[in-house]
Amino acid sequence: MNIIPYRCPGAVKDIARRLAHNGRKAFVVGGSLRDHLLGRDADSDIDMASDASPEEILRLFPRVVPTGIKHGTVTILVPGMSIEMTTFRAERSYKDGRRPESVEYLGDIESDLARRDFTMNAMAFDPLNGDFIDPFDGRGDIARKLIRSVGDPYERFSEDGLRPMRAVRFAAQLGFSIEEATFDCIPRTIETFKKVSMERLRDELGKILLSDRPSWGLSLLERTGLLKLLLPELSAGRGCRQKGDHSFDVLDHLYYSVDAAPKILAIRLAALFHDVGKPEAMVETEEGERHFHRHETISASMASRAMKRLKYPNDLIDEVAHLIGHHMFNYSDEWSDAALRRFVASVGRENLESLFMLRCADTAGTKRTAPDPRNLDPLRRRIEKLLAQDSALGLKDLKINGNDLAEAGIPRGPVMGKILAELLETVLDDPAQNERETLLRIAGGIKGKYGIED
Ligand code: ATP
Ligand code: MG
Repeated sequence: MNIIPYRCPGAVKDIARRLAHNGRKAFVVGGSLRDHLLGRDADSDIDMASDASPEEILRLFPRVVPTGIKHGTVTILVPGMSIEMTTFRAERSYKDGRRPESVEYLGDIESDLARRDFTMNAMAFDPLNGDFIDPFDGRGDIARKLIRSVGDPYERFSEDGLRPMRAVRFAAQLGFSIEEATFDCIPRTIETFKKVSMERLRDELGKILLSDRPSWGLSLLERTGLLKLLLPELSAGRGCRQKGDHSFDVLDHLYYSVDAAPKILAIRLAALFHDVGKPEAMVETEEGERHFHRHETISASMASRAMKRLKYPNDLIDEVAHLIGHHMFNYSDEWSDAALRRFVASVGRENLESLFMLRCADTAGTKRTAPDPRNLDPLRRRIEKLLAQDSALGLKDLKINGNDLAEAGIPRGPVMGKILAELLETVLDDPAQNERETLLRIAGGIKGKYGIED
């Protein structure tokens, strides 16, 4: 056993000491140790393993939350930190490839480490004597930047289909490669992968998208065959040549756009899907020129479908689809004020910043250049001026509302909605019309075409 200078937080030592007084052992394990070796911030969430049962932990410490007691995990809360304490175990059977059927508690750290997924996650540190336990050479693999299964990868991936996805996720987060034998077993255990719940896969996908270099994770998903199961709609983008400034096919363009987007889930998802409808929208002229008219609309609905399947929440789906649906704006100084107002009204003030982030990422992903937000400065300046003028840009800015229209004899319902939308159009064209009397007069004039009599 080697000793490394792991600066163990005092609270962790206190926990280990308390357990030792009760004849129990406790080790720091898992991600926090790995991240410490990598020099990444690792102090806020710490995983520990012990031979004490969850019930003992609940008895011994004042603030413990039974977060995953079925699987032997409880969370000890200490100021500024939460410590996940898992009882040593070796899983017995994985009938359905999802979660272990039953958990058997075992008394030693070595067998606990042997059931963990990757060598870099299968190390332990004893806070009381400084022993570093690394039976699978996790440190060597960290130095080689390799993700390697503990034991036989075929067996380990056949036990739990989430592990291949975790391998890719760690590769993307850490900039590591997947060791060859481990990599080769991903396609071979695809049947187990297929049994994993969408929610668990989605959470890993989210971590890939929010990593430093998502394109690395996405291309690993593609090469291992996981991508076409997870996001089959992306496949048609491979080899789909584009026009103009584009250096890449649609799929690589999407990957690089995600890389260039800020680490905000909605923006990264929007970047991932923003051109996904291009292959379907493509029309080729006799001269061989390609057009992708309305691809943003197709992309938005494909993104919604994919995100629904992945069980993302509806508000996130709507936000992403909205951004994608609006990503093809083409601003020039010649835009009239009315055109600008229409643009802001249809994007929505609250979404402008996100749409600009998506545009920057899209542009950067065209040639794989650094994102440059200054390209949008002229549009930004004009919008700032517009917003300072306090013009009506949404229904709530109109000087009349549904009550006024109801009093004027227009029944509530879809027709009222259409009349309000038409009034907004009028005001977007000419803000001077946004006066109560004027709008009531216009409403009176147009209600006839909606079948409302005087
Ligand atoms: P992070 O929390 O940074 O995402 P982590 O390595 O801590 O990474 P967790 O999901 O918190 O990941 O799991 C903690 C530890 O539990 C891992 O380091 C690993 O040892 C073990 N582990 C987690 N999931 C699995 C799994 N599916 N199969 C085997 N071991 C696992
Ligand atoms: Mg963790």
